[in-house]
Amino acid sequence: MSEANNGSIRDYDAYPELSLCIAGEWLSAVGRRTGIVYNPATGESLGEFPFAGEADIESAIKAVAQGFSDWSSESLMTRYDMLHRVATLLLERSERIARLITLELGKPLQESQQEVVTAAGMFRWAAEESRRNYGRTIPSRDNNIRASVERVPVGPVAGFSGWNAPLITPARKISGALGAGCSIVMKPAEKTPAVAQALMECILDAGIPGTVVSMVVGDPAAISRKLLSSPVIRLVTFTGSIEVGKLLTAHAAQSMKRTVMELGGHAPVIVFDDVDVQAVALAAAAAKFRNAGQICTSPTRFFIQEGIYDEFVAAFAKAAEAIIVGNGLDGDTTMGPLATEAGVKRITEMVDDAMNRGAKLVAGGERLFSSGNFFAPTVLSDVTDDSLAMIEEPFGPLALCTRFLECEEAIRRANQLEVGLAGYAFTNDSRRANQVRRQLEVGTLAINHFTASWPETPFGGYKDSGLGAEGGVEGLQAFQQLRFISEK
Ligand code: NAD
Repeated sequence: MSEANNGSIRDYDAYPELSLCIAGEWLSAVGRRTGIVYNPATGESLGEFPFAGEADIESAIKAVAQGFSDWSSESLMTRYDMLHRVATLLLERSERIARLITLELGKPLQESQQEVVTAAGMFRWAAEESRRNYGRTIPSRDNNIRASVERVPVGPVAGFSGWNAPLITPARKISGALGAGCSIVMKPAEKTPAVAQALMECILDAGIPGTVVSMVVGDPAAISRKLLSSPVIRLVTFTGSIEVGKLLTAHAAQSMKRTVMELGGHAPVIVFDDVDVQAVALAAAAAKFRNAGQICTSPTRFFIQEGIYDEFVAAFAKAAEAIIVGNGLDGDTTMGPLATEAGVKRITEMVDDAMNRGAKLVAGGERLFSSGNFFAPTVLSDVTDDSLAMIEEPFGPLALCTRFLECEEAIRRANQLEVGLAGYAFTNDSRRANQVRRQLEVGTLAINHFTASWPETPFGGYKDSGLGAEGGVEGLQAFQQLRFISEK
């Protein structure tokens, strides 16, 4: 690829040549340090991505400064049409993009296709919601002064996303920023750069000026240091670990940049003894092992009421054992590999630790196959609260079952961690549901189902799980600031 290649659609089946995209120019690996992208199902290298250097980041900052002025002064209906067009292009290219998601992340193709549909929905939502950016008029205490409040875009944004939802996470940040009238420098995950590149192609092909969105990868710490030190950047949005989220928040505070932090979770599931045990266990297995458990809202700590405990655990284990583990490109596969070798080691350590503390293995528990990062869907029962896996987020195909007697006990134990992202409860008793609704400390609560969010709903966490929200009206407003105007 040439130094400046204007993003033509590459071969359908081939893994693309990877580039940075700054001010609408595709910048290749030539003359830049590179990193390797691996296929987690085979361990083989897929390709090499270029590291953005200091000069590249400076160019990206310059571009988004200009892009903010270009985009925020563009007519609303032009912006609306372009955001819709991104959604249309994502759907038109969904087969190819889904294949890239599966190649880089490993999850089954069907799940990858659903991710493309959801990402397209985020652009549509942002387009629609941008038209409802209402201000308000305040009754004035002085008849000669008209008083009003507007929501104005906050300025150029720096976005950082993880690898576990490689299309949805950058799509949420970019669509929210653009819907609110901001420009953005996006740093997607180095594990999944081709998916981000495919999104970038849709953005440019939709007619959005190249200055408005730039995309860079490389050394995450060096890139964030440079971006967060720039006075041009006014907001930082990050999805990933609590540790990195706190680091970026502290850095952002030095220049009073706003932050949106979507960090770790460790979702509790409270299952009361009045439910259809078999149906809930089946739904739990489907939700738990989606994306091999690498979802921040993945149901993980299962608090099961004593009366149904044995039946639930047996049904859950049976459903886990029925999952077909394999390469996500194979039609039969229902769970792919973990994204990293480190993830496999972490789950292995957690299973060993829990069993040393008295937990019983009822499904899975071991690494699978001679190559790739495969681990069997695993269910442990009678896991103690002091087990490593109960305290730290496994972020893998590990379900932890423990029994409880009374509602208060389950809620207290569910709340005892310093995270509170998603939570789930299953009951047919409205008093129990109400108690959970009032007392469970989570930003997203699903009662009697396992869907944690849609494009039109706000998503964010309690405690260490984050700051602010993405999605919904709130997701757009996060990229705006209030301005009070009084006119005599
Ligand atoms: P991580 O924080 O190590 O990495 C996530 C991303 O941050 C990667 O793309 C990485 O390149 C980047 N990164 C790392 N250091 C950085 C730095 N100094 N500056 C800027 N970017 C940096 O997280 P991980 O362990 O790979 O991901 C799993 C975690 O992400 C889990 O805790 C999970 O719950 C969380 N997560 C949260 C949400 C949410 O919406 N709340 C969604 C997905 C994942």
